[in-house]
Amino acid sequence: MTVKIAVIGAGPGGYAAAIRAARMGAEVTVAEQDNVGGTCLNRGCIPSKIMQTTAVMIEKFKRAAEFGIKTNGVFRLDMPVLMARKRRVIKSQANEMLKVINDNQIRFIQGTGYIQGPNLAAVKLDGQKTVELPWDRLILAPGAYPTDLPGVPFNGRNVISSNEALSLEAIPESILIIGAGVIGCEFAFILAALGSAVTMVEALSRVLPLESVDEDCSKILAREMKKKKIKFMINRIVERIEDAGDQCRVTIGPSPFARDLQAKDTKSTTVTVEKILVCVGRKPDTAGMGLEKIGIKMDKRGWIKVDEKMETRAPGVYAVGDILGPSKSMLAHTATTEGIVAAENALGKNRVIDYKAVPSAIFTMPEVADVGLTESQAKKHGYNTRSDSVLFRMLGKAHVIGAIAGQAKIVSDADSKIVLGVHIIGPHATELIAEGALAVKQGLTVMDIAATIHAHPTLSEIMLEASQKAADS
Ligand SMILES: Cc1cc2nc3c(=O)[nH]c(=O)nc-3n(C[C@H](O)[C@H](O)[C@H](O)COP(=O)(O)OP(=O)(O)OC[C@H]3O[C@@H](n4cnc5c(N)ncnc54)[C@H](O)[C@@H]3O)c2cc1C
Repeated sequence: MTVKIAVIGAGPGGYAAAIRAARMGAEVTVAEQDNVGGTCLNRGCIPSKIMQTTAVMIEKFKRAAEFGIKTNGVFRLDMPVLMARKRRVIKSQANEMLKVINDNQIRFIQGTGYIQGPNLAAVKLDGQKTVELPWDRLILAPGAYPTDLPGVPFNGRNVISSNEALSLEAIPESILIIGAGVIGCEFAFILAALGSAVTMVEALSRVLPLESVDEDCSKILAREMKKKKIKFMINRIVERIEDAGDQCRVTIGPSPFARDLQAKDTKSTTVTVEKILVCVGRKPDTAGMGLEKIGIKMDKRGWIKVDEKMETRAPGVYAVGDILGPSKSMLAHTATTEGIVAAENALGKNRVIDYKAVPSAIFTMPEVADVGLTESQAKKHGYNTRSDSVLFRMLGKAHVIGAIAGQAKIVSDADSKIVLGVHIIGPHATELIAEGALAVKQGLTVMDIAATIHAHPTLSEIMLEASQKAADS
């Protein structure tokens, strides 16, 4: 008998689950209330990297003379053209996805999916019509949405989220970014390159204050921010916003999370900016999905709980992607992997998710990428930890392309020489991390990397240099 699988949400998680399930012979239906591709394609990875690509080009143009190119020194950003390019790329990618959905005989329903009861979902179409959707297995992939700050609601005008920042019609003269996490830092570099005076405020004690990000990467990134004239305040929070229409006056004071502040850091300051971009995290929005009707459990913040097979407390019901919250990794490729694992388990396989080697790619300028354990995490796990760093300025290729800032660090177990983590900040770090991910996933040693011939002159030699250093006893 053909298994009926219903998928709610067609972002990276739901899309991957649907394709895998269809290829394994299931009868698959996907409900999507917005555009195919989810946050990633429409309001996340792809549009932000389109803006970042233009930002990188602008930074390169600024250095044209250094590379022997004479210009009359005048170039300017054409926002309508940039936004038109963004829409074009999204449309073409969405068409490709819909074609794959079609080619795999997946039924795609445009509408809002919800659970009616055991083995029955429904999709509310535009207008008041609904379609019933019986299922043998259900895969939930509804994603997450930007969180606002208490007392600072988004208004789409001068207090905005990443959604609006990716559709700006004009670059604001000045902007305050609240939150120096991944999304906040990416926007800081993008908007600074596109012409905004950027100020960032972060409640914790460093930029990119994520457990998975190496502290040296944060320090180097902060240095690069200063070079790009991005102002940032750490250990600070926004206390008050006075909206004067075309300008906001923002009072910034000490963070309750800050320790050992100097006297000057305990005083409040004010900044006046045209816009405020709030990047303080994502939240679930499953109200109306009927999760309670079949006993799906959530944590106290509303993120769905699953086991290592991606199955919820309701048998035969799986959940994947951002809806699992920040205790997993809220990344597109994680959602895709979880979607595949869920689909396979829904069809009788026995797959367990493995988060050991999830690479993270941060498109700041320079880029930051990591995989596996940081030095302090490795120590906490009880490893006899060593870490070996090499600066990009050691490499011929870094000088050739004029991008020498940054380093690669390999964290390894000094006893077994096994690679535990790789942390890179520098040119094309987000591409270079793939070798680190392979090493961590496969349990390779630093000697394995050191014995692999790396082409010259390439940036990949940074991994060769760092592994050779780590292999020296
Ligand atoms: C600005 C920004 C930049 C990012 N950059 C990166 C990056 O560079 N790399 C990276 O790996 N990750 C990045 N991310 C994160 C990435 O976008 C998410 O991790 C990823 O999209 C999660 O996939 P998902 O399938 O879980 O959810 P989503 O992509 O959010 O998709 C969920 C889909 O479900 C639909 N849906 C919700 N409820 C219903 C319902 N009841 N019925 C029908 N449909 C429903 C939604 O409309 C949505 O289309 C970025 C995110 C943002 C905001």
